Amino acid sequence: PPNPSPLRNSKYAALHYIPLVDFLISNMRILVTGGAGFIGSHLVDRLMENEKNEVIVADNYFTGCKDNLRKWIGHPRFELIRHGPDAKCILNKRPGSRFLGSGLLKLSYLYTIKTNVIGTLNMLGLAKRVGARILLTSTSEVYGDPLVHPQPESYWGNVNPIGVRSCYDEGKRVAETLMFDYHRQHGIEIRIARIFNTYGPRMNIDDGRVVSNFIAQALRGEPLTVQKPGTQTRSFCYVSDMVDGLIRLMDGEHTGPINIGNPGEFTMTELAETVKELINPGVEINMVENTPDDPRQRKPDITNTKALLGWEPKVKLRDGLPLMEEDFRQRLGVTKKK
Ligand code: UDP
Repeated sequence: PPNPSPLRNSKYAALHYIPLVDFLISNMRILVTGGAGFIGSHLVDRLMENEKNEVIVADNYFTGCKDNLRKWIGHPRFELIRHGPDAKCILNKRPGSRFLGSGLLKLSYLYTIKTNVIGTLNMLGLAKRVGARILLTSTSEVYGDPLVHPQPESYWGNVNPIGVRSCYDEGKRVAETLMFDYHRQHGIEIRIARIFNTYGPRMNIDDGRVVSNFIAQALRGEPLTVQKPGTQTRSFCYVSDMVDGLIRLMDGEHTGPINIGNPGEFTMTELAETVKELINPGVEINMVENTPDDPRQRKPDITNTKALLGWEPKVKLRDGLPLMEEDFRQRLGVTKKK
């Protein structure tokens, strides 16, 4: 937000303070929750490139990692705070466990829904208090197992309210509702991005997501695990494109919700074959059991995103996978054979 000073909303200070602050220092102080995570840390990198930005990250390292921000620690325009929606989870984190994706869902349904609902409520309270604009990263999962394909923002979704994925899907749906209710009732400036599957360097290696699983498996020489039936589709957006879309949305005039994702659609079998071809042609592809309620198809309709934000993805899957391979090789300690 521009100058999120409490004075901004005070009737006493407003007359004198806002012009002074706005004209003399056009700095932005930006808080990124989850800024030590995969997408969050790439967003922080991009925000820090602008010398007028001061960036504060709040993260409890449940799934994020301080190492993702190591180049900013100690920087005068950067601050890192260990904080989360619920202090207990910091103590409960078991090192070496699997947390995100299907892993997180299995381990912690309640923590997922609390983060989305209580976390969003807390951030909205803060945004209201300081007069800040707030952006929510919602998800394509609000469309559930979609009956409309590709998915435009106007589609209301097909979500199971009591299934194993509901903590995430319904949690984000409530978060969107909270955003709009704060907007209508308190006049808060909001932005909602519905982000589709995203991949790139710094993804958790063992979080159970499909791109990170396949790349790690290919580099370790293990079979690629395609969950049945393998014909289910996803559309994968490279992280630099995602960050670009988020910044355009935050800086623009439209509240959203708006889809940010790459419309290139692949079956999981096609993805496995592509990873195999690009990274390790020697590995096998195995069919394994799936989790319940897995959406059968997913592809963003980005007509509005193009028209309203002037955004479309630039990086194709075949170009993005090798960029991620290098990062995974370093972290897994697997060198490339000449
Ligand atoms: N998947 C797979 N093999 C894996 C992990 C996931 O085939 O090792 C499939 C999974 O069944 C789903 C898709 O990949 O259809 C995407 O799963 P992910 O957890 O990455 O994302 P989400 O389901 O949240 O879109």
